[in-house]
Amino acid sequence: MAFTLSDLPYDYNALEVSIDARTMEIHHTKHHNTYITNLNNAIADTEHTYKSLEELIAKAGSISPAVRNNGGGHWNHSFFWGIMTGDSMGKPEGVLADDINATFGSLDEMKTKFQTAGATQFGSGWAWLTVSTAGKLEISSTPNQDNPLMDIANTKGTPILALDVWEHAYYLRYQNLRPAYMQAWWDVVNWNKVSELYLAAK
Ligand code: MN
Repeated sequence: MAFTLSDLPYDYNALEVSIDARTMEIHHTKHHNTYITNLNNAIADTEHTYKSLEELIAKAGSISPAVRNNGGGHWNHSFFWGIMTGDSMGKPEGVLADDINATFGSLDEMKTKFQTAGATQFGSGWAWLTVSTAGKLEISSTPNQDNPLMDIANTKGTPILALDVWEHAYYLRYQNLRPAYMQAWWDVVNWNKVSELYLAAK
């Protein structure tokens, strides 16, 4: 079963306050789409053809680099589009807000730790907020297209928030200024969605 590129849940210019429309369009139609094409090519006519994306990436340590990288790329981008919105409420509420405060001290301290994870990820990768199997909120980063669902991740868990820190995600507007991109990105986080994911994972 071949994987396909889904439409974004908003227009390319919806996140303009933080991410320009041209970057969104290239990121979705070129970068994300290429991961899907390469994933489909890598699994065609193999034992992996009928596995779900989650099944494939869970065994990242023992599958080919092409499946690990492109399967991760497909999963990560699909997730990333879903946790952003042009209509952000600006901050979490309810149980998620309480648990962020209890775990990190404050929302600002969580953001600082998350941005540090993204800024110190050398080269390309992702920053993550996850829920561990013990139900604990944790921040981590992964290289390339790895993610916390993979068996090879240093910090495993269920992702509830993710930020793409590859240069292709920000270079047109922010050039080399990854920290400026990360700071601006909070304005498009879909906290309703993140809360849903948190309650489901907890
Ligand atoms: Mn990307």
